[in-house]
Amino acid sequence: MIDSGSGHRHFASDNYSGVCPEAWEAMSRANQGHAPAYGDDEWTAKASDLLRDLFEVNCEVFFAFNGTAANALALSAMCQSYHSILCHELAHAETDECGAPEFFSNGSKILVVSGEDGRIRPEAVSHMVQRRCDIHYPKPKVLSLTQATELGTVYSVDDLHALFEAARRHELRVHMDGARFANAVAALGVAPKELTWKVGVDVLCFGGTKNGMAVGEAIIFFKKELAHEFAYRCKQSGQLASKMRFLAAPWVGLLESNAWLRNASQANHMAEKLEAALLEIPGIEFISRRQANSVFVRLQPDVATALRARGWRFYTFIGAGGARFMCSWDTAESDITALVNDVKELTSAKST
Ligand SMILES: *Cc1c(COP(=O)(O)O)cnc(C)c1O
Repeated sequence: MIDSGSGHRHFASDNYSGVCPEAWEAMSRANQGHAPAYGDDEWTAKASDLLRDLFEVNCEVFFAFNGTAANALALSAMCQSYHSILCHELAHAETDECGAPEFFSNGSKILVVSGEDGRIRPEAVSHMVQRRCDIHYPKPKVLSLTQATELGTVYSVDDLHALFEAARRHELRVHMDGARFANAVAALGVAPKELTWKVGVDVLCFGGTKNGMAVGEAIIFFKKELAHEFAYRCKQSGQLASKMRFLAAPWVGLLESNAWLRNASQANHMAEKLEAALLEIPGIEFISRRQANSVFVRLQPDVATALRARGWRFYTFIGAGGARFMCSWDTAESDITALVNDVKELTSAKST
């Protein structure tokens, strides 16, 4: 029998969560009769318009099934095969996409830069670009950064200004992996445009899945000329949904109700509570400063094993090692309390 989710929620990833009511309800509203296929329907038009309203700008919008495809296709539209893409060494595009950006760009090379807390610094960009400028080096063309980062931190508006100033100086285009863009907006409390086109983002992959949808990411071209023939890339890569209305409708549900921001705020808020509770347990070491919806701590291996034996799911392969506890749109205080009690019990059992 399928375990229908009795008991507590997990902290492995925000994609362990289900579909939020606003997205589900919009899917159900879209499920009326027939509608034109391949994106020629009213839901797709409406979702695109709502995204243009949200970002307060006229941009080109596409929908893909997942974040790997969104990133890989966006990046391939931003460079030629002899170009290179700069990203953080912990970036999803580098570590978790099975080479999709290189594959879809026909071989553009990813150049990784390091940086504390999952964030790239302007000096690191300049260093990587200026290291070589001869014909033998894959010409740097794109800076890709993740907001919120893989380590649960965010780039402030000032961080972005400084970073993109360097990008402009080196004539780099800017891609933002926004699988958790909503969490960054909620954490920073600024308008989406302040984190994107106003500071110099050319293309944003805006995550819907981790925000409460069943499936779907929006690829948003603020620099519209980069979207030239992009629809063909989507089709060729198997990302053009024939019943597109069901990829688009959840966006309408999330954006019309403002649930996208509520969901992200809830996840962030729960992570804040979890961090505060874990801080009170002696001997727990924090790996990075929490700003969005994940908390990274170093657990003794036997504590991690015992937690898993009690049924908790969390990742230990992401980022700088340690355990990652990720909160979702539906994480509740009771989940935090249950987890924290188990951690407390298991760590104190060790020290006695
Ligand atoms: C989850 C995630 C993605 C998208 O992953 P898919 O599994 O392909 O949907 C992209 N970037 C980051 C930073 C992520 O955490």
